[in-house]
Amino acid sequence: VAKRDGGNRVRQFRREMGEQALARQRDKADLRTAIDGGELVVHYQPIVDLATSAVTSAEALVRWQRPGRGLLGPDAFIGLAEETGLIVPLGEKVLEAACGQAVRWNGEGRSLGVTVNVSTRELATPGFLPRLDRVITSAGLAPNRLTVEVTESVWADEPAMRSLVAVREAGIRVALDDFGTGYSSLSYLQRYPFDVVKIDRSFTGALGRNGRTEGVIRCIIALAEVLGAKTVAEGIETPEQADWLRDAGCSYAQGYLFGRPADAAEWKAAASTGW
Ligand code: C2E
Ligand code: MG
Ligand code: MG
Ligand code: MG
Repeated sequence: VAKRDGGNRVRQFRREMGEQALARQRDKADLRTAIDGGELVVHYQPIVDLATSAVTSAEALVRWQRPGRGLLGPDAFIGLAEETGLIVPLGEKVLEAACGQAVRWNGEGRSLGVTVNVSTRELATPGFLPRLDRVITSAGLAPNRLTVEVTESVWADEPAMRSLVAVREAGIRVALDDFGTGYSSLSYLQRYPFDVVKIDRSFTGALGRNGRTEGVIRCIIALAEVLGAKTVAEGIETPEQADWLRDAGCSYAQGYLFGRPADAAEWKAAASTGW
């Protein structure tokens, strides 16, 4: 009996593995179709100047309007896109949308910068800068209106690093996203210039809960200042967090307190009510 059960379990395991591989193939094909067929949607989250509460820029955050599945967040498909290389055409779509939107806002009298998340894998793919250059040129966006957000994993990838240096030399701004959770060393930080440090929301979320957090955030702000970078605090949900960060010398903030990611139409509606 035990032997027969074992055999069944092996067969079931094989069947499940096969099903997983099939589901993955299907997801990959669907994502390919989604990229070409306009199922990707870009939402924008406001980034505000903590001193004035004015919205100064917007972070582009991709979603997938997947037929029959609803609006999927990036955590549901960015991993697959990175593994399959689809992150390259996906990233290009997001860049086109974001640069176009920044130019439209400008035309509507709203002077906003736009920030776009770029995966290390995308940066490391040959031709990243020429593609990016083509997108901003055809949109008619000034390079310094665009900020590319990268994570600290970029330090571990030589080609991505070289590409990032070239991006910044082209006048595009560079932000270190989710700062403090990745692989930075003081040596990298001092060697490679960047414009913005985004303090990860795990720090801001721990304010008032973990006694060491305040000191750690103050150190990140001081370090950014020494390196000539601005700070953006992520994940601000309460006025107390915003007040504390402003007093600590943080320049900008982003979070549900100021606004959730919203599509361009919602931004238009919000503009008339004070954003
Ligand atoms: P991220 O770049 O760190 O973006 C911030 C994430 O935090 C967003 O999640 C945003 O909705 C969420 N968030 C903002 N404010 C708050 C808050 O007050 N509280 C909480 N709990 N969350 C907040 P989202 O949109 O699900 O994006 C997740 C991640 O997916 C992003 O993290 C980014 O790493 C990645 N991502 C998004 N769009 C793209 C893209 O176009 N390309 C690439 N390569 N990655 C992307
Ligand atoms: Mg980001
Ligand atoms: Mg982040
Ligand atoms: Mg993140």
